[in-house]
Amino acid sequence: MTFRGGIEKPENLARTGGNGGKIAAGGGIGTLLLVGLFLLMGGDPAQLGGLVGGEQQPQSQNSSGTLEHCQTSDDANKYADCRVEFTALSLNQVWSTQLPDQANLNYTKPGLTVFNSSTSTGCGTASSATGPFYCPVDHTAYFDVSFFDQLQKYGGENTPFAQEYIVAHEFGHHIQSIEGTLGLSDYNDPGPNSNAVKIELQADCYAGVWGHFADKGEDAFLEPITEQQVQNAIDAARAVGDDNIQSKAGRNVNPESFTHGSSQQRQEAFLSGYRSGKMASCDYLQRGVYS
Ligand SMILES: [Zn+2]
Repeated sequence: MTFRGGIEKPENLARTGGNGGKIAAGGGIGTLLLVGLFLLMGGDPAQLGGLVGGEQQPQSQNSSGTLEHCQTSDDANKYADCRVEFTALSLNQVWSTQLPDQANLNYTKPGLTVFNSSTSTGCGTASSATGPFYCPVDHTAYFDVSFFDQLQKYGGENTPFAQEYIVAHEFGHHIQSIEGTLGLSDYNDPGPNSNAVKIELQADCYAGVWGHFADKGEDAFLEPITEQQVQNAIDAARAVGDDNIQSKAGRNVNPESFTHGSSQQRQEAFLSGYRSGKMASCDYLQRGVYS
């Protein structure tokens, strides 16, 4: 259990996606799409075969439904899709205070879509194989909750707080979008000191900043975060490190191809934000603009 009991959902935040599993044929993954897509995991773009080119589905198939079975925080403690929605509620609460306070910027909520099998997005059609991602074109974070099961494949554990870390990472990209820095990332120009890695580590660190505040205050959504939960998030951050993904895929670890940072870097980034609560501790781009 991570959410405090008995909190009613104040608004329907999540939209359900999915277009019956129909993925536009052809296209294959293009680097153009990767440029505009911010993922939780790096790895070989060829493995992201689910993201296929261009063809947009009608919007009505994409953004109609809400998560009817997610009404209270007790549902969020039970169901992964409700957990995504309640984590987003908590993220909106934390960032609407912290972003003005620490970066002197107004916070606007991102869109949130929870989908099955495939969905159309402002960045093209996504499938479950894409993993969680943020599309800067429509300012929306996309989650197929079946992805969470894959954490185990990479040596992580599919725990509630690990899932919440993943949601918070994608919201980190939304913060970067508001900051105007997200476009500095270029997955086509990878490497250990690349902007791609800096942007991804910053998103991990921003996830930690959220965690720092998420259990504080009278209207906090989360129960006090335990050491065990922090460890769950660290384990997830380690699982999605570039070196871990490469070696689990049976490839040599090649830092020159890193887009998201090593397991070590990703867990340190999360922890640094979590311990301090300071965006300044996430300033991998060395902008020096945070209070
Ligand atoms: Zn990311």
